[in-house]
Order: sequence, then C-alpha cells, then structure tokens
Amino acid sequence: MRLDKLLANMGYGSRKDVKALVKNKRVTVNNTVIKDSGQKVDPDKDIVHVDERVVIYKPYIYLMMNKPPGVISATEDRHDKTVIDLLSSEHQHYTPFPVGRLDKDTEGLLLLTNDGQLAHQLLSPKKDVEKTYYARVWGTVTDKDVEAFAKGIVLDDGYHSKPAKLRILSQGEESEIEVKITEGKFHQVKRMFEAVDKKVIYLKRLCMGDLQLDNTLKLGDYRELNSEELSYCQ
Ligand code: URA
Repeated sequence: MRLDKLLANMGYGSRKDVKALVKNKRVTVNNTVIKDSGQKVDPDKDIVHVDERVVIYKPYIYLMMNKPPGVISATEDRHDKTVIDLLSSEHQHYTPFPVGRLDKDTEGLLLLTNDGQLAHQLLSPKKDVEKTYYARVWGTVTDKDVEAFAKGIVLDDGYHSKPAKLRILSQGEESEIEVKITEGKFHQVKRMFEAVDKKVIYLKRLCMGDLQLDNTLKLGDYRELNSEELSYCQ
C-alpha cells in the first residue's frame, strides 16, 4: 500500500499532512529516509518510523457508535448527514461503513468497520444474529402480541417473519417493550408492530448478538471495540 495511506490511516493526518512529514525528512522505511510519500510499502514486512517512533499498522477498524436520530446509516447521502460524517478524519481514513442499517429516526448500537468479512458474518441471514431493540409503542401491547411475535408476523408485503421474542416492559396507552429479532428487513420492527395495529414511536438498538451498546456513549459518540467485544462479532 501507499505510505501516505498507511500513515493517514494510523492517525498521522491527511495525505497532505503526511507529505509534509516526508518533506521534512521525518519518515523512514527500513531506516532509509523517504522522499516520496506515495512510495509503496508492505505493512507486514517494512518497518516504518515517524520521528524514530515505530508505526504498527492496523488494517481494520471496529467502531461502536450510539447512533443519534436524524443521521443516515450509510456512507454517503445527498441530503442528510451520515454516520460517517460523525467520525474524526483519523477514523474516516479507514473508509469504514455501517454494518447493516438503522432508520434515520432510530437510535442506538451501530457497528462501523472496514472489515467486509466480519460485516458479512454479522449480516448473513444464515447466522441468525439476534438484534435486541427497546421501543416505545402507541397502543397497549398484550400477551396476544407476544404470542403472535413468537410465531412470526406476516408483514404488509406478505413476508412471514421469523419468530421474534417480545417482552413487555410497561403496558398502557403507550407501551414499552424489548424485542429480539434475527432478521433485518426494511423497517422490520416498525412493520411488525403495524401488523398488530400498533405504532413504534421510539426505537433504539441495544445489542447485536452478544455485543451490547456501551451506555456511557452519548448520542453521536463512538469508540473502538475492545478485544472481548470484537470476539463477540467473529
Ligand atoms: N427495525 C426498524 O423498523 N427500524 C430500524 O431502524 C431497525 C429495525
């Protein structure tokens, strides 16, 4: 890979910043001072130093975000801010993408990575990775709804969803629930509730498999996964 991409990914600023480092003779590859920031390096073999500090290359990034409402979970959008816009340039250099989608108004756990294999593992319908959501719903959610969810719900397009685990947290004109689904159809949770004549008015993802949203992350904040959390995704 190019030296400037490697250093930019490792947090040494933009490619322009890296060019300046190279120009100022602050970068060496295998103990040779580099003149061209576009030089190709092999991260597994070549030893890169900046100001005599060795640069350990990390090819992948795994971020957990508490997605705020009003932001699109995509890499780009013509009209709205995306979750990528919330990342620092240091993290954007890795060209991460969101693993699956949350609706614009949905909050909560969103994983961002540039590791396509891991994303595929988590999203593959064969893996049945359970996603847990908290929701506030207009209407009284009843045990009948719990049973219906357990059998799978027929959505507006005729699709019969897989069984879902619905738990009632509070019941009233407005109910609070937790639901676990193993699929990721478009607007799935909202459409499941519409099918039982209720309306989701607030939705937040809490977990993907064993990976839990860090409750200390404020809306829009994110952090790297620790090794234990990463192991839950593999
Ligand atoms: N189900 C929905 O309806 N929306 C989401 O954002 C996620 C799951």
